[in-house]
Amino acid sequence: MMYVSRSELLISVCGSIFLLMATTGQSLAQVPESPDRDSAYRTEVIEPFHIIDNVYYVGTTLHNSSYLFTSSEGHILMDTTWEEMVPGIVANIEKLGFDIEDIKFILSTHAHHDHVGGHAEMKEMTGATILATAPDAEVIETGGEADFRYGDPATLYWNPSQVDQIIEDGEQIRLGDIVLTAHLTPGHTKGCTTWTTSVEDNGQEYDLLLMCGLRMDPRGPLVGNPKYLEMPQEFAYSFAIMKTLPVEVFLGAHGYWFNLGEKLQQLKAGAEVNPFIDPDMYYRVVDGWEREYIERLKIER
Ligand code: ZN
Repeated sequence: MMYVSRSELLISVCGSIFLLMATTGQSLAQVPESPDRDSAYRTEVIEPFHIIDNVYYVGTTLHNSSYLFTSSEGHILMDTTWEEMVPGIVANIEKLGFDIEDIKFILSTHAHHDHVGGHAEMKEMTGATILATAPDAEVIETGGEADFRYGDPATLYWNPSQVDQIIEDGEQIRLGDIVLTAHLTPGHTKGCTTWTTSVEDNGQEYDLLLMCGLRMDPRGPLVGNPKYLEMPQEFAYSFAIMKTLPVEVFLGAHGYWFNLGEKLQQLKAGAEVNPFIDPDMYYRVVDGWEREYIERLKIER
């Protein structure tokens, strides 16, 4: 796979936004619909389960995803969701037969209260090292106050925690036989991180992608946010990056992005092929969000 540097791509995406507008017309784009506040998707407490290979779902609801990547050298926890969900996540990890003291690293998709709100408490319980990209680290360390959306009622304050190590774009986090590659995909937050790894299922290797998310703030402006003037270009950069990443197993920061409820039912029913192997859905969702972005850009410009 050919990598283009971030600055190179940022320059080229500024000029290619209009090209994107012309080329995305033919896809089966799909914008995932966020479940209502009181929907079972958000409120019902679910049991942890095995997704594929060494990857487990330990989130307490279908909506707020949290994942455990396991190895013989220790485990990596991805997203801690809300602070009040930490005891549930801990219980889920223990139900699966893992020891929370074996969690060595706490990673995240992005620095919002519903993904990193439990970092401080989880670090205290496990002693794990917290890693994040520099822009998201600043937000995690201020409990959200450094976020460009701070003050928006949907962007809440949480218990801040120190970030022990900064992750660079393209960096690989290794633990035992876990190799997770960080891809900076900014826009939703400035340090939004999409993760990729390789997994095995039935003797076959698959590319797994855990998506940070490309959803725009439905309330705030895309263009001209004084705290994030480069937001439109960064979104365009992220869409371009997301399309170059090989994906067969599609996961993300929220379950509704990749039909988690439906896939869990298929898994429970003993599906012959692992339902999380779903590249089509990934590309449809990226296309859907990109279309939404292009529409917003047209309106705001
Ligand atoms: Zn978010």
